[in-house]
Amino acid sequence: MTAIEKYFKRDYEQSRETFQEHVSTIKKKWPQAVLSTETIGEDPDNTIDVIYSEALTSNDQVVFFTTGEHGIEGYAGAAVTHLFVEEYLDQIDPQTTGICLVHAINPWGMRNFRRVTENNVDLNRNYLFEPGSVPENVNENYSEERHIFQPNGPVKDVAKEKTELYEQLSKGMMREGYSGIKKAKGMGQFEFPHGVYYGGSSEEESASFLKAWQRKLLSTYPRVIHMDWHTALGPTNEVTMVVSEHDEREEEHMKEEYGMENIQKFTPKKVKGDSTNYFHKVKNEENPDTYLFSALFEFGTFGTSRKAELREFTTIILENQLYWEGAEKEQDRQWILEEFKNMFYPNQEEWRQSVLEEARLAIESILTQEEILVSYQTT
Ligand SMILES: [Zn+2]
Repeated sequence: MTAIEKYFKRDYEQSRETFQEHVSTIKKKWPQAVLSTETIGEDPDNTIDVIYSEALTSNDQVVFFTTGEHGIEGYAGAAVTHLFVEEYLDQIDPQTTGICLVHAINPWGMRNFRRVTENNVDLNRNYLFEPGSVPENVNENYSEERHIFQPNGPVKDVAKEKTELYEQLSKGMMREGYSGIKKAKGMGQFEFPHGVYYGGSSEEESASFLKAWQRKLLSTYPRVIHMDWHTALGPTNEVTMVVSEHDEREEEHMKEEYGMENIQKFTPKKVKGDSTNYFHKVKNEENPDTYLFSALFEFGTFGTSRKAELREFTTIILENQLYWEGAEKEQDRQWILEEFKNMFYPNQEEWRQSVLEEARLAIESILTQEEILVSYQTT
């Protein structure tokens, strides 16, 4: 097995099995560590797996990793978790530090190489603070752009449809179609259940499950350090840290503090229902004295150019159309699935290598600065 094969698994079951094996490594330092498995959705074999242990003598802080919120993106997240378990546990003091590692928040999506849940929901737009408050008016009406959001018949000729989408979107740079989809990407849309970037009409099981863990950690530890692993956004083959505006520090200041090159802030005004904002909100309202560091870490694929952005939207739209309506030609189906993987779980060795290298950079930068990694003596 090559190094790449060791970390990057071919399917959900292999990835989960590898994750479950980490519990024995973790038990060497945290003897009480427990693996728990929770079924999510219809298929009892789709599970969120969590390895958790409190600190041995004093619950001063906890390191919290989450992966697979966006299904297919969980493969890279699982690789990073594997790397962390192998390379960094020796630098953590189990006496004072708890550990909580989560595999596949959206197991159906990961198993089926989709980004959304089995209800077509983008989980990171589903963490609205008040249940039942899913705001219909969170977006303006997208009905003008409905043809861009939701599928209308099977894929007939992918090359042609791709060109049309590129044209519609690029001409629409100044028109509604483009700004509509760009807005929906950030805010989610709550109008078309079969459309792209759908935020859902009620809370997803995965979201309830993660919220319970967020609350538990915030009320058990005075310091919670959370890294949520994703793919696609940011410069190709580089890691980008994405933080909520609840974190009041300036981007430039954070770049210096953490020694990270790529940091993006997002504002709750432009992004709705995401799990990091929710985490900060719970902290502020229920555990105001707890220190919370929570950020997304993205491994870039297509890049940040305008062309890359068009390619992203086109890929997301075509994959959604394929899922709901199918394709007339088998080769078109293959092409779309391949392009979707290129966006969220590329097969290229160069990308996979960069995930490992950039993950080390992010782990060392953040967890050293946050005092999770300390070269302590075991004697
Ligand atoms: Zn993601």
